[in-house]
Amino acid sequence: MKSKVSKIGVLCSGGDSPGMNAGIRAVVRTGIYHGLEVYGVMRGYSGMVEDDIYRMESRSVANIIQRGGTVLKTARCKEFFSYEGRKKAYDNLKKRGIDGLVILGGDGSFRGAQTFSNEFDIPCIGLPGTIDKDIAGTDFTIGFDTAVNTAVEAIDKIRDTADAHDRLFIIEVMGRDAGYIALHSGIATGAENILIPERKTDIDSLIESLQEKEKRKKLVNLIVVAEGDQFGGAELSKMIKERMPLLETRVCILGHIQRGGSPTCFDRLIASRMGYSAVECLIEGRHNVFVGIVNNKMHYIPLNEAVKKKQRIGEEWIKIVKILAT
Ligand code: ADP
Repeated sequence: MKSKVSKIGVLCSGGDSPGMNAGIRAVVRTGIYHGLEVYGVMRGYSGMVEDDIYRMESRSVANIIQRGGTVLKTARCKEFFSYEGRKKAYDNLKKRGIDGLVILGGDGSFRGAQTFSNEFDIPCIGLPGTIDKDIAGTDFTIGFDTAVNTAVEAIDKIRDTADAHDRLFIIEVMGRDAGYIALHSGIATGAENILIPERKTDIDSLIESLQEKEKRKKLVNLIVVAEGDQFGGAELSKMIKERMPLLETRVCILGHIQRGGSPTCFDRLIASRMGYSAVECLIEGRHNVFVGIVNNKMHYIPLNEAVKKKQRIGEEWIKIVKILAT
């Protein structure tokens, strides 16, 4: 069923991720191609509530595909949790005749979109923008590839200095609920241990493996820890130092560098494909879904199914880490 959307809004909400600009560009240009008016909403749902919305043209998104961050800015918006806040947002859309929305964000933003759409009958399409890759129903999220490559580049540099001094380095990467950045960057950099929130950390066996390595004079070790692991980098370092005081240990928290930077080719590509598909969804009447990619094909998942991915990371991944890092 073709719907009658004629004016659409695009916004970024929640945490930012590299590649959001490529997604915005795709939404704007696909919308214009189909004869729609496209509006940019600033700072997530805050822009809707506070009426910070402006018309976008094809030129508005020139020269942004290669830039990290988001030209629309992003935010968390308290007011949107209340009906009154959402009603204000609706009134601001209505006065412009905006009758469809594309939201780049994580599962929280999708929950907000679902509630808003149920209440005010504005069709919403989500684009999964998160560096953590923690949204069920899609193989990839916009920003993960860039973030993980940033982590790899940084960890490679740390290995150089760790190697020069025979040190143990504990590197904390992002991932509060999901260990994908730690797992992927750890495997790609040959980390000796990878600690992720999805698995309970066995501190005794970790220490035993370090002691065993010490015996065979393997003194350069990298441990990649997701920030959401039961022990953060600092706590882990303290425990290791207590039990192996002679081991030279350093901690490096990579932090927000993982969110910034020019998006990789892969992130630009998926953001472009997803942005294009989001507008097609609005036009075709496939509403209140988010756009995912599974086996390199577009998938459309109901917004209310966008729960945090809590699945266990396959045992095979862990086995690979152990075998390759002896
Ligand atoms: P993310 O989208 O990255 O998971 P958050 O969970 O912080 O980020 O959500 C971003 C914003 O989405 C919130 O600040 C709020 O404005 C909106 N939002 C999230 N959950 C809801 C909800 N249950 N109802 C209404 N709005 C919500």
